[in-house]
Amino acid sequence: MTDSTVTNGAPLAEVRAAVLAAAKAMYARGLVEGTAGNVSGRVDDGTVVLTPSSLSYEAMQLDDLVQLTLEGEVVAGHRSPTSEKPVHLAVLAAHPEVAAVVHCHAKHASMFAVARVPIPAAIDEFVIYVGGDVPVCEYHASGSKSLGPEVASKLGDRSAALMANHGLVAVGKSIDDALHTALVVEHNAQIMWGALQLGGVVPLPEKARTDFTNIYDYVRQHTWMA
Ligand SMILES: [Zn+2]
Repeated sequence: MTDSTVTNGAPLAEVRAAVLAAAKAMYARGLVEGTAGNVSGRVDDGTVVLTPSSLSYEAMQLDDLVQLTLEGEVVAGHRSPTSEKPVHLAVLAAHPEVAAVVHCHAKHASMFAVARVPIPAAIDEFVIYVGGDVPVCEYHASGSKSLGPEVASKLGDRSAALMANHGLVAVGKSIDDALHTALVVEHNAQIMWGALQLGGVVPLPEKARTDFTNIYDYVRQHTWMA
């Protein structure tokens, strides 16, 4: 059992730089269009750095980031935090080993989200990264408070979940790791979508699935906080 008072965070300056870099990378890699999507990272004092609402990624600077408590009170920053703040805070509050949350509208992942079909984990390496199929959360409106607990409930044993009729949420042991997970999920979603056109996805053998899920669980429980 993890001590809930201990969380996985990094020094403030490091988190701010990494959140900004991940936000710009998310845009550059095509995971979002316009000002959609958002990134958060946990500071070692328990606060959270979030990207702001409605600002282009090209223009975004360190000063535009917002620092909040886990309860949502603004500690520093002159902009409004992203409207998806409840999702970020709920996930970070529920999972102390998670250091960062990336939310994006990557095309293929969002296709599964709109169809409300889990993204199959039919590649063994994917199971090691994500923990299994990417589940679909029940629909709650974008920005609603009730979306937070629903998304958090799906991320206890997975590094990614789909928000129904919306997009993707990915988490990680660091901000870079959460971004990497989002990219891996989108890559995998494209492969699975193609496989469905070719006649269907053949699931991994049960033993491989179990073995690789066990590796994911071990790594998350023992190394994310290290
Ligand atoms: Zn969104």
